[in-house]
Amino acid sequence: MLVTGGGTGLGAAMAERMAGLGAAITVCGRRRAPLESTVARLRAAGARAEAISCDVRDAGRVEATVEEAERRQGPLHVLVNNAAGNFLAQSEALEPRGFDAVVSINLYGSFHCTQACGRRWIARGGGGTVLSIATTYADTGAAFLLPSAASKAAIVAMTRSLAVEWGRHGIRLNAIAPGPIPTPGAWQRLVPDPGFEEQLRRHVPLQRFATRAELADLAVYLVSDLSAAMTGQLIELDGGARLAGHGAFNALLEVPEDELRRQFAALRPRPARPG
Ligand code: NAP
Repeated sequence: MLVTGGGTGLGAAMAERMAGLGAAITVCGRRRAPLESTVARLRAAGARAEAISCDVRDAGRVEATVEEAERRQGPLHVLVNNAAGNFLAQSEALEPRGFDAVVSINLYGSFHCTQACGRRWIARGGGGTVLSIATTYADTGAAFLLPSAASKAAIVAMTRSLAVEWGRHGIRLNAIAPGPIPTPGAWQRLVPDPGFEEQLRRHVPLQRFATRAELADLAVYLVSDLSAAMTGQLIELDGGARLAGHGAFNALLEVPEDELRRQFAALRPRPARPG
C-alpha cells in the first residue's frame, strides 16, 4: 500500500492503522524526517514499512516511487492519495504561483499517483483500490480556500470518472470528505486562533471533531473487501457539519433555547377574529 503524505497527520494515522492490520506500507512525501520517524514507529510495532522521498507534483518522480515501492515490497494493491497543500487567502490577492502550488500537489499529484498505479493494475489484470482524501467543501466550495476547494472538487470528479472507466478492470476508487480533524499541519495552516477552533467545533452538530483514529477506521473499510461493491463514492466524516452549513435557518442554533421558544411562539399564526 502506498500512502502519499504518510509521514504526518492523517496519512501517518492511516498508515499505522493499516500496518496494524498486516498491510505492507510505503509512505512518501517531500521531507525525509517525518517519513523516517513514521516508518520507525511502524517497524517497531512489527510492520513492514518503507519511506521514499517524492514530490507528487513530478510525474517522473511518482513513476520512480511506485517502481521502487514495488521493488521493495511486491505489487501494490492500494493507493491512498492523501498528500495536499493548503493556505488561507483572499482570492483577489492570490498569486498565480500560490494557486498553482496547491492545485499541483492536490490534483496533479493525485492524478500522477492514480495513473501510475492504474496503468500497472490494468496491465496485470488483478484490480486495485484508490482512496483519495478530499474535504467536505469539495462539494460546496469554501471562502478563502479557493485553490484547495477547486482541486479537491476535481479529485472527486476524477474519482467518479475513473470509477466508471476502470470498473471493468476491477479497480475501485472512493474518497473521504473529512471535516476539520486536529493535526499539526492543518491547524498551523488553517486555524489562526483558539477562538476560531471553538467556532468550528460549535458548528458541528455532534459538538466535536472527528478523530484521526476514526478517519483511519473509515479508510480501512474503503480500501478493504468490506466495501468490495462500492466505487465512485464520497463519504463525509464531519459530525454533520456540512449539512449544518446548508440552510440559512441553521444560524438560529446560535440563539439561546428560551429565546427561540419565545420567538417561535410569537410567529405562530393566530386564529382569524370573527367579523
Ligand atoms: P499534513 O499533516 O500537513 O499532511 C499533508 C502531507 O502532504 C504532509 O505529510 C506533506 O509532507 C505531504 N505533502 C505536501 N506536499 C507534498 C508534495 N508536493 N509531494 C508529496 N507530499 C506532499 O495535514 P493533514 O491534516 O494530515 O492532511 C492530510 C489530508 O487530509 C490532506 O489531503 C488534507 O487536505 C486532508 N484534510 C485534512 C483535514 C484536517 O482537518 N486535518 C480536513 C479535510 C481534509 P511534505 O511536506 O514532507 O511533503
